[in-house]
Amino acid sequence: MINLNNIKSINWEDKSISILGAGRSGLGAFKLANYLNANIFLSDNGKKKINIPKTNKFNYEYLGHTDKVLDADLIIKSPGIPNKIDILNKCAENKIPIVSEIEFASWFSNSEIIAVTGSNGKTTTVNLIFDIFKHADTNVLLGGNIGKPYSENVLYELSQNKSFIHILEVSSYQAEHLVNFKPSISCLLNISEDHMDRYKCMEDYVEAKLNILKNLSKQDVLIYNFDDKILNKRLGKQKNIIPFSAKSKSNSLFNFENNKIICKESCKSLSLSKTKLIGLHNVYNIIAALTISSIYGVKFTKAKNAISNFDPLAHRTEQIGIINGVKFINDSKSTTIASTNAAIRCFEEITLILGGQTKGLINFEEIKNIIQNKNIKRVIFYGDVCLELNNKIKPNKNLYLIQNFKKAIEKSIEITPSNNCVLLSPAFSSFDQFKSYKERGDKFRKILEEYSYAK
Ligand code: ADP
Repeated sequence: MINLNNIKSINWEDKSISILGAGRSGLGAFKLANYLNANIFLSDNGKKKINIPKTNKFNYEYLGHTDKVLDADLIIKSPGIPNKIDILNKCAENKIPIVSEIEFASWFSNSEIIAVTGSNGKTTTVNLIFDIFKHADTNVLLGGNIGKPYSENVLYELSQNKSFIHILEVSSYQAEHLVNFKPSISCLLNISEDHMDRYKCMEDYVEAKLNILKNLSKQDVLIYNFDDKILNKRLGKQKNIIPFSAKSKSNSLFNFENNKIICKESCKSLSLSKTKLIGLHNVYNIIAALTISSIYGVKFTKAKNAISNFDPLAHRTEQIGIINGVKFINDSKSTTIASTNAAIRCFEEITLILGGQTKGLINFEEIKNIIQNKNIKRVIFYGDVCLELNNKIKPNKNLYLIQNFKKAIEKSIEITPSNNCVLLSPAFSSFDQFKSYKERGDKFRKILEEYSYAK
């Protein structure tokens, strides 16, 4: 068994590591463990054979996790694997330490971490931070829940023999099973209900997110959204914090007034209209990124330049076409009520398409609030959600339940008058009809293209 309080003393060549899950982060952990020359067992419950040749120091299984996993000094658990499964219970009974991939990778890095978490806006914010730092010629690597797994970036760091700043997008799943993981900067963007199929209650989900702070010390900084009620209540009294806000005059480093983000120290400003990002939610993302870069001494003018040139990411309130004077907006990445609420604040005269697969119980109150929002003129529900809403919602000429995605999009084209917009901001996950939110957004684009050609 290994001692997690004294990682540096471990000779990994003698140790056996079982990695649960052969997805992106499992394979990332595999590469790092392989570099350390540990004995590795990779266990996956997928149907496909793992595409790595077996060796005397590496073996694998697929189609499920057997007790072979237990022959290990350490378990690295991929984030997508639920906590309450048989094999993990057995690992716990056998007192084999279970860590997440980001915990494992952090043991071998000599570089600082900027960890960004929250329910929405993580990918946008880490990309903004990355671009600002690149613009300021800082050595940064971007990874975690987006792009390269952290383990692969740590491997790269080791191969270069120099230090970087690791900018990490951290999901709540990745923030579980942390022991020594210790970011220099932890940033909490917002918290709203999500993943209620994995967590017993909202409190458990909040705890999972806040777990990235478990080793916060005096030298580290916590940056959090002052305007987020849950975060404010939970974090307002912490030490070494820097709040950020788009509303109040708290002791944040930036203000937002008259559509401008103002740097309090230099009194210089960045007009939101000079960027390609839209909506108040992106103001928060920008202010979070600016706050972090200013802690590292990046001049406001430099950061402003990077932000002005930042191209919005696909599938996030992205305009993908205009047909007959109707704008079509792809916000397929929205899988929560909060992110759909953020999107509907950005447009007027909206035909909203929402639906997909639920992640736990549907909150009807929130659905009702969305339908009643003044910007929403028509609503089309699609996907599995329709089955649950069938008895609760009475369809009419402005409210439709159309299970098939393509038919839902076709209906939106038919009913939306010019100068209005069609917003695909589903608020639910895509897995009932698609492999991912990307596939759903791409399908939306394709249906529109086909329609335009056929016209
Ligand atoms: P994440 O990585 O946390 O999922 P993304 O940047 O990919 O965040 O955005 C996901 C969804 O949330 C998109 O629909 C986007 O428009 C919306 N969004 C982005 N930033 C925010 C924010 N700060 N608050 C609420 N919604 C947001």
